[in-house]
Order: sequence, then C-alpha cells, then structure tokens
Amino acid sequence: MPSLFIDGTWTSGSGGSAEVVNPFDASVVETIDQAGPDDVERAVAAARAAFDTGPWPGTAAGERGALLHRVADLLVRDKEEIARVETLDTGKTLVESRIDVDDVTGVFRYYADLAGKDAGRLVDTGNPAVVSRVVHEPVGVCVLITPWNYPLLQLSWKVAPALAAGNTVVIKPSEVTPLTSVLLVRLLEEAGAPRGVVNILLGDGRSVGAPLSEHADVDMVSFTGGLATGQAIMRAAATTVKRVAVELGGKNPNIVFADTDFETVVDNALTAVFLHAGQVCSAGARLIVEDALHDDLVAELARRADRIRLGNGMDKDTESGPLVSAAQLAKIEDFVASARAEGARVVAGGRRPDEPGLRNGFFYRPTVIADVRRDMRVIREETFGPILTVERFTSEEEAIALGNDTEYGLSGAVWTGDAGRAERVARALRHGTIWINDFGPYVPGAEWGGFKRSGNGRELGPTGLAEYQEHKHIWHNTQPGPAGWFTGGV
Ligand code: NAD
Repeated sequence: MPSLFIDGTWTSGSGGSAEVVNPFDASVVETIDQAGPDDVERAVAAARAAFDTGPWPGTAAGERGALLHRVADLLVRDKEEIARVETLDTGKTLVESRIDVDDVTGVFRYYADLAGKDAGRLVDTGNPAVVSRVVHEPVGVCVLITPWNYPLLQLSWKVAPALAAGNTVVIKPSEVTPLTSVLLVRLLEEAGAPRGVVNILLGDGRSVGAPLSEHADVDMVSFTGGLATGQAIMRAAATTVKRVAVELGGKNPNIVFADTDFETVVDNALTAVFLHAGQVCSAGARLIVEDALHDDLVAELARRADRIRLGNGMDKDTESGPLVSAAQLAKIEDFVASARAEGARVVAGGRRPDEPGLRNGFFYRPTVIADVRRDMRVIREETFGPILTVERFTSEEEAIALGNDTEYGLSGAVWTGDAGRAERVARALRHGTIWINDFGPYVPGAEWGGFKRSGNGRELGPTGLAEYQEHKHIWHNTQPGPAGWFTGGV
C-alpha cells in the first residue's frame, strides 16, 4: 500500500523507500515510500488548489467540526491497532500508546466543539452607522512538521485546529516514526476530508521538510522539534514572511521543598523524567531539591531507578522501553561521559543494560546524576533521554533562580505543602506550563508552549486555534457619504 497521500490519492512517490525500525530489537517494522522533489510540488499545489478554489475554507464551521468528530469516532474504533503501531514505531509501552490515542481523540473532540463556537466579535466604534467586526479566517496552506517522541499526539495538536479553522495541510512526520501519522490520514480520508485538504509526505528534514518550509505557496509552517531545526525553519520562512509556530525543547526544573511527602516526591520525580525513557519535551530532567531532603532523596532515587524494568513495550511487565534510535542512544552515552569527565557523580545507571534480550535494542539504564554544577553540559542542554540530574538549594529565591537558569522555558513544577509559596514560585518561573504538586498532565483546553527558546505561539486551547487563523477587521459604513477633507474644488 503506498504511503504518501497527495490530492486525494495514495501514491508511492519518487523518493525511493526507507525502513522503519523497531527500537526494541532494531528489526524492520515496515518499508515505506519516500517523497521526491516533485511530490513536494504536487502536495503543495494540491493543498493550494483545495484552499483557493475548493469548498473547504468556506464550509460552515459546524460541518468542519462534524468531520473532526467523525475522526474521533474512528480513533476510538481503531485504538488498539493504532496503539500497537505506535509502540512498534517508538518503543514506548503499549499502556502509554493507548493513553496517547485517548489524548488524540480528546484533542479532536475539543477542536470539533470549538470550531462551531468561534464566531469572531463585534467592536464598538462609537458610530452607530458603522458595523465593525473582527472575523476569523483560515491562514491558507499549512505545513505541519512533527517529531518522533509523540508522533500521533503532536500531529493532533496541529491538524485538528488547522482543519477546524478551515486550512488545508501538508503533513511531514518524523522520518523516524511516520507510521501512525499515515494511519491518521487514512482516518481523515475515511471521515470525508475533501480532496487536497489533507496531504502527507514522508521523508527526512533535508529533502522534504526544508523545501516545504521555503515554499512560496505555503502560508504557514507549524513545527515541533529541536531548537536548531526550529531556527533553520524560521530562517527559511523569513524569505516569504510566512507564519511560523515553533514548539521546541525544554530543560525543565522540578523543584522540591522539604515539606513535601517523601514517597510522593520519589515516585513523581522518577515518573517525571523516566516516562518514555525521558524522551519527552517536558521531562522533569532537573530535580532541584531543598538541602534538608537532598541526601536521602538522592539515595532513594538511585535505589528505585536501578529497579525500573526495561523491556519490550508490547510486554505488560515493561515499565520503560528503549530510546528511539541508535543516534539517540549515542547522544545519551555522550552526555553521561561528559558529566563524568566534568566531575559529576553517577549514582544509578550510566550504562546500557546487561540483559542479553535487550542487546539489539537501543536501551540505556535510567540514570541519576548528583554533584552537578550549573555550567556542566548535562545541566545546560536538553538530553532528551533517561537522565535525571539533582541540584540543591537553601532558599526560595535560590530555587527560583535555579529554575530559571536555562535558555529554555517549556515547563516546570514546584512541590510544597505551603500554598502561598507554591503560588509565588509558580508565578516567578519563566516557563509555559507550571505544575504545583503534580508533574506532566495537560488538558486540550489549556494552552501549551514555551517561553524563551522553547518556542513561540501556543498549541491547544483557544489560542491553539487562533494560531491557524487570520483575524480580519471588516468596517462596514451603512450610511456612506463624503469624507469632507478635500473640499477646495467643491
Ligand atoms: P528534529 O528537530 O530533529 O526533527 C523534527 C522534525 O523536523 C522531523 O520531522 C524532521 O524531519 C524535520 N526537520 C529536520 N530538519 C529540518 C529542516 N531543515 N527543515 C524542516 N524540517 C526539518 O527533532 P526530533 O529529534 O524529531 O524531536 C526531538 C525534539 O523535539 C526535542 O528537542 C524535543 O524537546 C522537541 N519536542 C518539543 C515539544 C514541545 O511541545 N515543545 C514536543 C515534542 C518534542
């Protein structure tokens, strides 16, 4: 079955083929088609024509919402199959993949409902003869470029609001994990997306992502991925002044005051960073702990991290899967080597697992690193892997300063029994999402995105829809007459 979808037709494309690898054992899951330069042109042309001359942008918003609801119904129907493919593709546990599919369904339902309620607004001009209103219109052809850690979820945050707003899209999933994005496009087709409205191209960033970002007929690029790629896309988009929304990395502080229940802290600190082997943009990779708690906490975290069960994501006893690729594994090994060389103390992990059954996969033991300094690479850069570093503080001010001492600003958490302190710290942290006495949950109705180099714009919530809209002001003078400026010749 061909894997590219262009102008309402499944096609093989001209870019050859590529193997999708299961990170658990490096076996080939599927061989898929790759887009060539002519496919990029055809997909943009199809999306352009569907936007400029097709019915979709002018379709009643309620009808667009109904299509999104149908997709949600199909996601419920196919949940098990989609979750299975996501696990084969990413290595994450089946439990996590099922949660992802539920979340994706929720995102489609949220934007399905919001589509019909988004009516623009009237503006009072002080002149009763004038009707002044701000209407919301789609931006046009939107390119949606996604990463490999939450392939389906990250795509849903883009494609659901983009379609709700009446845009046409060209999807470019990560070359590492493209399979569930193809499945989602099949569901969009089945739900009745008109020809050319949804297109998907497979391939790498250089041969497909970059030409899409530069393309003169593309109105917007919405990107989730790494900082360097985001910067490259912003530069490419500058030539045609296209709209760009970027969701980038994070180096997220998880701040713990000593008045928090010990077991709650241990359990949540582990979950915050080791879920999906730490390959989460909002992973709580920097644990920042009040002095009094530090030594006991480090010892207990090390003990518990050593007991995390690695394995096949398809196996129900597995607590954590592998890293997504050999490249990612090499990156993590390099981070730990640099931390050791800079004098940090590795108290758990710091190596690949011993089990023979895990040898072919891209596994790395959950790693806890203490005695770190703020200038170390492992503290400054996003590792995007199973590495937890522990820092200590003595005052609230110091905790805040540490939490903000990063070029990123995606998310963070504060744990304390003191509600006043919790609120003060939450407001002082320069990150897009702050959890108080929790870590990680999100809801489709609340905005997600970064301060500083974690990105611009927001996904989810009403702002996540506004990203895909132009706001047009229409001034209607119902009693026109002479303006009365240049009366000399009258
Ligand atoms: P990446 O930047 O390497 O790739 C992301 C996507 O961009 C892929 O589809 C890739 O093919 C494409 N791409 C690469 N070069 C390109 C170019 N020059 N032009 C256009 N497209 C190009 O990122 P990744 O390794 O897939 O994902 C990991 C990163 O994603 C991490 O930094 C993580 O923090 C970030 N992330 C952020 C969020 C968030 O919500 N802020 C969510 C998930 C992941």
